[in-house]
Amino acid sequence: MQRETRPFCRWCGKNLPKDTKTFFVVADLKNHKSVLEGIFGYVQGPVKSAAEAQRLVNGTVVKVSYKRPDHEGGISKFNVWDGVSYKACWGFFCTNSCAAAMGQATCKHPHSLFGPGALARDAQLRKAQR
Ligand SMILES: [Zn+2]
Repeated sequence: MQRETRPFCRWCGKNLPKDTKTFFVVADLKNHKSVLEGIFGYVQGPVKSAAEAQRLVNGTVVKVSYKRPDHEGGISKFNVWDGVSYKACWGFFCTNSCAAAMGQATCKHPHSLFGPGALARDAQLRKAQR
């Protein structure tokens, strides 16, 4: 079995959340052509179980919401993960707060944490000051 190499926040170390797409179960698909198509997905209902939802989409169904607590009436929406995508703020962080903390630390310790662009800029500024 392959070991999971899940990306984590470069500041706090928490796992980055999976980036999933929400699919809504609708009574009639042709009433749901909208500008949100692509951001959200729509499937023709009823969908009674997670296994049934899984058969309707590519990717892995990771979360289902039922219309009622007793599951009567089936699923109202479900989330699908493509197996590779994670949500990240600025590419590496779980939240903007973590990105800001990393930015602040970078400014306090410039020579250990500057990225290549910032290092070049720093060298340019130092040269100009001579
Ligand atoms: Zn974080």
